[in-house]
Order: sequence, then C-alpha cells, then structure tokens
Amino acid sequence: MGMFSGKRILVLGVANERSIAWGITEALHREGAELALTYMNEAIEKRVRPLAESIQCTNVLPCDVQKDADLDQLFAELESRWGRVDGVVHSLAFADREDLQRPFAQTSREGFRLALDVSAYSLIALAGRAEKLMTQGGALLTLSYVGAQRVVENYNIMGVAKAALEASVRYLAADLGPKNIRVNAVSAGPIKTLAASGIPHFKDLLSAFAQRAPLRRNVSQEDVAQAALFYLSNMSSGITGEVTFVDCGFNVLGV
Ligand code: NAD
Repeated sequence: MGMFSGKRILVLGVANERSIAWGITEALHREGAELALTYMNEAIEKRVRPLAESIQCTNVLPCDVQKDADLDQLFAELESRWGRVDGVVHSLAFADREDLQRPFAQTSREGFRLALDVSAYSLIALAGRAEKLMTQGGALLTLSYVGAQRVVENYNIMGVAKAALEASVRYLAADLGPKNIRVNAVSAGPIKTLAASGIPHFKDLLSAFAQRAPLRRNVSQEDVAQAALFYLSNMSSGITGEVTFVDCGFNVLGV
C-alpha cells in the first residue's frame, strides 16, 4: 500500500521523460496513485502515450489549456471515469521565445497575453473545474521559479507570469480552503527540460547555480517530486497558499 493508494490525480505538463511533471508522475505511481495524464497536441501525445504505458496508465487525455472546450471536455471525461478527483498537478508554462529574448521593456502585448494565459490563468481555469470533482477535499500543486520574485536575466515576461501564478495560488487557497482544497506551489531551481531550453543562456545559469547554491549541486527531478508528494498528500494537511523553494538553498544567497 503506497501513500497514494486509492487517490486519483490529474497531471498536466508531461512532454517527455525530462519533464518535471514526469518525475512527479513516476513518484505518484510508485506510491500507488491512479493517474491521468494530458497532452497539448499530437506531437506531445506521441511522447506521452509510451510514458503512460510504462506505468500502466490508461487515462491519457487531450488538453490545450488555452481552450475552454478542452478543459471542459477533460473534466467531463474525468467525472465519467473517476467521479472524483483528489489532486491536480499543474506543471506547464509557455512564453514566446522572441519575448524572452528582447529587452523586457519591448515585451509585446500579445506576448504578455499569451504568457499570462498559458502560465497563470490556466491554474485558475483548472481549479474552478477541479473544485466540483474534489468532493472529499483535495490538493492542487503548481510549479514556479525564483524569477517571479526577483529579476533573473532572460526570464523576462515569464517572471511576470510566475508572479501572477504565485498570487493566484494565494487567492485560490483562500477561495477553496473552506472546501478543504489546498493550493500550493513549488519554486524549483533550474532543471534541463524542453521548456527551459527556450531560455537564452540556460546552460550558463545551470553551471553558475551548481557552483553557488548552498548544496553545491543542481536540483533533480526527484528533489521536486519529493516535495510534490508532500504537498499532494496529507503530510501537508495544514498548509495552503504557500510557495516553497526546492532549489538547493539558492534563494537564501545575497548578491
Ligand atoms: P517541459 O517542457 O517538460 O513542460 C512544459 C509543459 O508545458 C509541456 O508538457 C508542454 O506541453 C506544456 N504546455 C505548454 N503550453 C501548453 C498549453 N497551451 N496547454 C497545455 N500544456 C501546455 O518543462 P518543465 O521544465 O518540466 O516545465 C514544467 C513547469 O515547471 C513549468 O511551469 C516551468 O515554468 C516550471 N519550472 C521549470 C524549471 C526548469 O528549470 N525546468 C524551474 C522552475 C519551474
């Protein structure tokens, strides 16, 4: 019997085996959770299906979070398959590469809208739908980055989107708390993933991080997954609205 036996968890954001969402999925599977995974388009579906098969997960569903119809269909499908949802992992973000590369003051209106829509509004859109199926309470978890709170070179519009995401965690926690639905975020240190490859000079960021972080190493998928298990389980039953750094201590450093 694992820590998540009998629990039904929806995970959004697996793109490949390097995805933070995949590390969390594997950990939840080891702990006995029943899982549903999503993919945003056909290219991602080709990557996600074999991964889902490797853990005997048969709930693999489409969802582009920019489309309300996809979100509605996803939760209608979960209601008919499961009737109830206990946890949601929101591990996705997107910003136009051009908007990450140009000076921040040159961010386009459309680039702002896109980054905030995919990376922050999507959590609210999921929470509003998940709430109806979290009939026995539940937990939502999202992924943030220190660029939400401080200026990190080249993170630009994504930092603003993560700030909106972290504020949304607090407002959702207040809104859904009376139903015993908890909402938290893990602010992870840099990890080499598909999304991270869009950030200019990411390799330099990784090596500088490992040299300076108090634990003198980079963060692993497993580090984040352990924290995710904590926030999705009763181990964190009294915690909501929190943003927790899983970053080998990097955030405590001064300049
Ligand atoms: P990843 O590329 O593996 O995952 C990003 C996911 O976002 C992909 O699965 C992609 O399909 C999904 N996505 C993008 N647009 C979407 C849309 N419209 N609808 C549905 N899904 C969409 O990269 P990752 O690093 O695992 O990213 C996961 C989360 O972790 C993101 O929120 C990211 O900002 C955050 N994060 C990453 C790092 C890092 O260094 N990798 C650090 C801190 C936080």
